[in-house]
Amino acid sequence: MKPPRIIENSPFARIARIVLQSRSVAMVLGNSIHLSGATREQFLRDPYWVAHEMCHIRQFQEHGHVPFLWKYLIESARVGYFNNRFEAEARLAGRLDAHLYAGTEPLPDPEQMHKGARG
Ligand SMILES: [Zn+2]
Repeated sequence: MKPPRIIENSPFARIARIVLQSRSVAMVLGNSIHLSGATREQFLRDPYWVAHEMCHIRQFQEHGHVPFLWKYLIESARVGYFNNRFEAEARLAGRLDAHLYAGTEPLPDPEQMHKGARG
């Protein structure tokens, strides 16, 4: 698998940020992680956040890019962002897989991280 591309100041992520009323947003489209309100360094410093978005990358690969986007949007329309099953899966992955993205550092306090506490 190719490593994902990280795109800062993404207009797509900016729209998601406005919709979700969030200070910073990462949004996966295919094999790219789009950021708004956070730099690449801020994103990579949060292993919970990286693990969450890597789960979305896997979801895109498992379902196919266009089918996944479609399923994700239908699911969001039906049950909302938080209860979306793809978000629930990514929240779980964020907690379980964070150690994979912490490098040689010990895992930071999840409460201090963007995705660690709330996902
Ligand atoms: Zn997510």
